[in-house]
Formats: sequence, structure tokens, C-alpha cells
Amino acid sequence: MRKNIVAGNWKMNCSLEEGQKLATEVSQLVLDLGQKDAEVILIPPFIHLSKLSEQMQSDGNFYLGAQNCHQNEHGAYTGEVSASMIKSCGGTHIIIGHSERREYFQESDALLAEKINSVLSNDMTPIFCCGERLESREVNTQEAVVGEQIRNALFHLSADQISKIVIAYEPVWAIGTGKTATAQQAQEMHAFIRSSITEKYTNEIANGISILYGGSVKPDNAKEIFSQDDVDGGLIGGASLKARDFMDIVKAFN
Ligand code: PEP
Repeated sequence: MRKNIVAGNWKMNCSLEEGQKLATEVSQLVLDLGQKDAEVILIPPFIHLSKLSEQMQSDGNFYLGAQNCHQNEHGAYTGEVSASMIKSCGGTHIIIGHSERREYFQESDALLAEKINSVLSNDMTPIFCCGERLESREVNTQEAVVGEQIRNALFHLSADQISKIVIAYEPVWAIGTGKTATAQQAQEMHAFIRSSITEKYTNEIANGISILYGGSVKPDNAKEIFSQDDVDGGLIGGASLKARDFMDIVKAFN
């Protein structure tokens, strides 16, 4: 059975003190909720990982992740951080290919494929982001765009490797804009992604992969989106910075 997941991408927000406060609040709310139906992943800036992992060790029920990594293990890459370094600081998941990385840092599908390999070779979980821009949605080419992103970055993986990834469908036009895909639009794309994986691999593999929706998920729309057959949770940006809102999104699974 695939897992339900709610992951909070803090992006470039929160001082250490603010991050610690937010993580403490969220972990307390998760404990109070006794949430068992969804994994909760907090994805702070790299530099907070170590402290947050110390702080959260005894809280259980949580995972920590990073927002990006370099494709190589180590070397002369000033300013970069590798998957193994993230692991050594307590991270278990790494977002790969967020649309902000694709857009502002020109990350190509070929580079993302290398990053995915690096995450997997460290026995960590990549959360691979894909999604079309508004121009594509307007001319109805969203499946062609997302299909190509998936083929280029993921379809070199073995059956065993692809079974270990999480996919996040994040239409670019819905990220941070307040515009959410309708539950039906999300379901259609998630079903398309799953059927593409079935075609390349097997139905069993496709059915085991968690596919998250991301793009302006809020407490008031999470339940409807998460209730779709092929939607297994969310990658949450803005709303993950408020402990209550984030928890109300997690509660959508209760
Ligand atoms: C994101 O950055 O992955 C995201 C979904 O952001 P937001 O929830 O703010 O749209």
C-alpha cells in the first residue's frame, strides 16, 4: 500500500530560532493528534537540519528533508551540499526538481536525473517535482510536458529504484499564487502519471508510488484534493509556515 504523506517545504524562510519554534509547535500538534494515517515531513533550509533533528529525535512520527542537493558526493563545488551530507544531519528525503530550482537555477531534466541517482544511492527518498506552466495548461499540453519531465528524469531507473521515489505534481501556475488546481485536474494528472509508470514498469509498481499534489494547498481545500483516488497527500509551501494551518492540512487524512 502506498503511503499518505504531507511534506512542508519551508523554502528560504525562518531563522534558526523561528524554525525551532515552528518545528516544536508542529511536532506537539502531531503528537496531540496521534496522527498515524500520514507521514509528516518538515523540509527546512539545510542549515537548520542538524539542530531540528536533535530536537525532534524523541518526538517520532516525523521525517526531515532538504530542498535540493548537488549531484556529486563531494568536491570543489563551492556553496553546494550533497545528499550524504544531508543524511549525516538527519535528513531522509530530498526535494528534486522543484519548479523554483528549474526556473531560477536552470536545472534541466538531465541534471535532475543525476540528482535522483545521488539521493537513491544514499538510501534516501527523492521527492521528484514535475508540473506544467500556465502556457501549457492553456493549450492543453500539460500531459505532454509532465510526461516528458518524468521520462527524462526518472525512466532510466530500475524497477527497484523507481519504487523508492515519491512524486509531487505541482502545476507551476498554482505555486504560491493562491490558485489551486481543481480536485479533478489534480486527479487527472495523477492518474496520467500513474498510468505512464504502469506503461514503463508495472501496475504494481505504479500503485505503490505516492504521488503528492502541490500548489496553494490550504486547510480549506486539502480534504477535497486528498480524497481523490490517485492523490496521496501534498507538498505544502506557504501553509507549512504556520503550525496550525499545516496541521489542519495533515488532519485532512483523519
Ligand atoms: C511549493 O513550493 O512546493 C508549494 C506548493 O508552494 P505553495 O503551497 O505556497 O503553493
